[in-house]
Amino acid sequence: MENTIVALATPPGEGAVHIVRLSGKDAFRIGKACFEPKNREKWQANTSYTLHYGWFLDGDKKIDEVLVARMKGPFSYTGEDVLEINCHGGMLPARRIIEACLHQGARLAEPGEFSKRAFLNGKMDLIQAEAIIDLISARTDLAADLALTQLKGSLSLKIDEIRQDILDILSFIEATIDFPEDEVDDLAQTELAEKIMKAKEKAVEILKGSKTGKIIREGLLTVIAGRPNVGKSSLLNAFLEEERAIVTDIPGTTRDEIHEYIKVGDVLLHLIDTAGIRDSEDPVEMIGIERAWKALNMADLILLLLDVNEYNAHQFTKEEQFILEEYAEKTIVLINKVDLIPAYEFNDSFLDPKIFTLPLSVKNRLGFEELKDEILRRVYEGNSSISAKPLLSNIRQINALEKCINALEKAQEAVYADVPFDLVSIDIRSSLEEISLITGHNVQEDLLNNIFSRFCIGK
Ligand code: GDP
Repeated sequence: MENTIVALATPPGEGAVHIVRLSGKDAFRIGKACFEPKNREKWQANTSYTLHYGWFLDGDKKIDEVLVARMKGPFSYTGEDVLEINCHGGMLPARRIIEACLHQGARLAEPGEFSKRAFLNGKMDLIQAEAIIDLISARTDLAADLALTQLKGSLSLKIDEIRQDILDILSFIEATIDFPEDEVDDLAQTELAEKIMKAKEKAVEILKGSKTGKIIREGLLTVIAGRPNVGKSSLLNAFLEEERAIVTDIPGTTRDEIHEYIKVGDVLLHLIDTAGIRDSEDPVEMIGIERAWKALNMADLILLLLDVNEYNAHQFTKEEQFILEEYAEKTIVLINKVDLIPAYEFNDSFLDPKIFTLPLSVKNRLGFEELKDEILRRVYEGNSSISAKPLLSNIRQINALEKCINALEKAQEAVYADVPFDLVSIDIRSSLEEISLITGHNVQEDLLNNIFSRFCIGK
């Protein structure tokens, strides 16, 4: 981290102002060489959190009229000395300022490098770093609230607590192995099993809410399925007319599927329009169909549209039957076009009672409120104050926590199977590695510190 780095902190293009960010041990020296303050005395006082008006220079050449914010490390975003140069909002002033800094020995920052330095300097952990990205790309108020909760660090505290529990388990094992007076007694075995169980329970508790967290962050992956003409496009359009969500590209989505985002209450539905699911010999169509099946498999929610007359006649296609059998729990059956039949006469008693069935008329906007209520009920699972809770929302973190729990389970089973403690510690160590990935702790060093801090002097 010897280098001083510089980059444009605002989106490129024309605007009212641009901000160029400069961070590193030479930031203030570069500032001195390039900035001609109006109030020299104030600038030379070298105090932190101050704003200075003046000219930015490249050599002797004035390049823009600027405001420079000065933040001294370690009390800055990166933990290093930072200057933020507010300049006029064209690409040229910003580019020239960056070049002037480069001429003075700075180098261009890599993507995310300011935040990476903040992490390496201990200003935040990985959960908080990732929460910043989530906050920037949040598409609903709820997603922004969730990111803020993570940024404030309450989730980090919870994860750290489990991590500390696991470190304690390892220390306990070390201590027991170090003093093998006789064989490890039953008491130690019971105590170890209990300690593992407690850590696991805490981890499971956090994991429980994480499905909702992921949905809040990424949207509920939704497939609208049904045969041609049942009203899939009409339903999608009706949704879109009501509220189209602000959309930014999500990595990993393919261009040839139609992705739409709509807001239902405070929840984002990420709709995938599939190519229509039916058997085909045509290779091109088959690719589309394969993709559609994959989408069904991945989906958090399937909205299966049926035509009321076909439904009443118990006429289901093979594909519809498959969805009803395989995906009953995540499917909502919408019996569309009920406006076509007198007094909405339809029979809802013959489907599996597990399947939520709703009469609908896209044409007359009938059944929409019930549909929304059901979607929200599923997302929140009876938990409405979700944004204030410390939830994991990021798939990397969720995967790591799942692996941590699996390793703890394996360790628990090993203890019950009378496996020697030093072998149990292998699973505990891998659970520690996984949980450390969530916040980004350095495992080795921490483990050593934790163990040695429990030793008495002279041992
Ligand atoms: P898709 O092929 O599944 O996308 O079906 P469309 O959305 O294109 O709809 C097929 C036809 O059904 C269109 O003529 C729609 O106007 C009509 N339709 C859709 N929903 C309703 C409804 O609730 N009631 C009635 N009567 N017609 C509808």
